[in-house]
Amino acid sequence: MLDWPGRLATTVFIAGCDLRCPFCQNPDLVVARDCDSQTLSELFSHLYNRRDWIDGLVVTGGEPTTDPNLLGFLEAVHETGVEIKLDTNGNNPDALSRVLDSGLVSYVAMDIKATYENYSEATGGRGSWQRADRSIRLIRESGLEYEFRTTVYPRFVSRTDLPRIAESIQGARMYALQQFRPQKTLASDASGVKPMNPDQLVECASACSRYLPTITRGV
Ligand code: SF4
Repeated sequence: MLDWPGRLATTVFIAGCDLRCPFCQNPDLVVARDCDSQTLSELFSHLYNRRDWIDGLVVTGGEPTTDPNLLGFLEAVHETGVEIKLDTNGNNPDALSRVLDSGLVSYVAMDIKATYENYSEATGGRGSWQRADRSIRLIRESGLEYEFRTTVYPRFVSRTDLPRIAESIQGARMYALQQFRPQKTLASDASGVKPMNPDQLVECASACSRYLPTITRGV
């Protein structure tokens, strides 16, 4: 009930990622590689058996666009009649473009990790801001429902950064500020970082609302 706004969804996590965000809260998925066919078979049974009351499938990760079989997988899910939401880090605009053009996905959520100055450090990927920027434009021009979102990891995203990010996507459909949870992180020292005070996060959302509708999550 949380992964797709307003919908009841099943969520599938695709292993593997092309970034290394120190604050990543799914570190096991970032380095994992294998997914056995038994698991896929169970997933499709689950979808067929529940397709009358599940609204959709959320495909998240890791980073789904790193999987070379993503389009085939999405086609197979589409055939079940279940709608698809894709979560992406926007680091592979070519693969994202193919997904957007396929007509298989109904909703896209893309992470914006930081302002452009901090992007490489926040993602561990050189040139990641340029790729993210291109993906932002592709998503905005796609005609699909979408949202942008930022996990507020205070070491890379400050209270003044958030309205700047919002301004950079001014007029977009929706922006979500997600509270950082330090319990389990990719970089061990990230788990010692204190999350932003909830009141301050709400204030930041209010400041971002000058540019586009903004909500908070996990506060
Ligand atoms: S938070 Fe970063 S490292 Fe973790 S899955 Fe998302 S893009 Fe990959």
